[in-house]
Amino acid sequence: MRPIIENIGYQFGPGLAWLLTSVFIFLRYAIPASLVFLLIYKWKRKAWLERKIQQKFPKTAQLRHEIAYSALTSFIFGGMAIGIFILRKLGYGELYFEIEEYGWGYYIFTVFFMIAAHDTYFYWVHRLMHHPGIFRYFHLVHHQSTNPTPYTSFSFHPLESVLEFAIIPILTLVLPVHASAFFLFTLWSILFNVLGHTGYEISPSGFTRHRFFKWLNTPTHHNMHHRYSHYNYSLYFNFWDRVMGTNHPEYDRQFEEVVRRVKRGAKTGVAACMMLLSTCSFAQMSLKDIQNGNYGSPEYRAHQIDSAMQVGLALRKDQITPVHTINLRYSKRVEEEVVKPKLSDWSKYRRLMKIQKEKDKELQSVLSSSQFEKYKNKRDAMFWEGIKAYFY
Ligand SMILES: [Zn+2]
Ligand SMILES: [Zn+2]
Repeated sequence: MRPIIENIGYQFGPGLAWLLTSVFIFLRYAIPASLVFLLIYKWKRKAWLERKIQQKFPKTAQLRHEIAYSALTSFIFGGMAIGIFILRKLGYGELYFEIEEYGWGYYIFTVFFMIAAHDTYFYWVHRLMHHPGIFRYFHLVHHQSTNPTPYTSFSFHPLESVLEFAIIPILTLVLPVHASAFFLFTLWSILFNVLGHTGYEISPSGFTRHRFFKWLNTPTHHNMHHRYSHYNYSLYFNFWDRVMGTNHPEYDRQFEEVVRRVKRGAKTGVAACMMLLSTCSFAQMSLKDIQNGNYGSPEYRAHQIDSAMQVGLALRKDQITPVHTINLRYSKRVEEEVVKPKLSDWSKYRRLMKIQKEKDKELQSVLSSSQFEKYKNKRDAMFWEGIKAYFY
């Protein structure tokens, strides 16, 4: 590894080295950002809706804008990274390659030191970029995303990219840093950034008031910065915002609001699932009834689902009995495993989802593929409606 890193500028020539480093930096942004995006904006879009801080989704034009600027940022970061190696070759800079040179204690210290130094540097440079005199030349591009996505994390104007990265060569000029410690620091930076821009809250209730955790920033914290602009400037830690009094006064309250929505969402999820499993989405019961625990008997639910499926899916004669057997068996299972036990809403929701999967498998063996497709679409639409009815 050492000769490749050390001689990168010489082996490939500075131009190609710049290109390769930039592509590497871009991929290190694009891969985690895309994985997170696919997971929560596509795959779990419905299931995790209640975790979405702003209850709307960005348009494709915003994503295109973010990815284009992020590619540009990668080239600038790449150029500056090559600059660091070239400086080192010329005798400037303290990058080293043998851990034994300074030992493990020092190695770990440098990782934490770089994170803390970057956090402080970023806070003040960020506040500076919000100065009305320079805001639009440096920082406007990043703030064009008022509802950030994982792709926003590298979406900077070139001038902002240079300013943000400037701390890195400065650090390597004054502090001996192992090449891999440097890599770890940048990895932490990009992962934290992607998480902070997801637009989804994952921390539990009470996080922003906890003795230790309150010092760590949450996705809600940075999301509010994109929304309100003149608060919440800090990057990794909620240190400088607390010291300088620049935390948004509504931060704790808005954070709890999202978290509470997650709890309520679980309840809605339970209700909607009960509806699907009990009555096959052609529900005779109202969402309210189910939320209040009025599910009816398992036999009643099985009967409802039987007749709804017969009509809705035009069941053939030979399908009626097997479908009834499945419906009754699963209604009874729901009774025993979900309705009767005292469980949290989340556990009920998870159990229902599991039961639903198993039931789907059995139904698939009885229904034709088009019937099953129709059943599934109707059910999913109903689930979505149930969630929406609760929020809007
Ligand atoms: Zn941001
Ligand atoms: Zn800003």
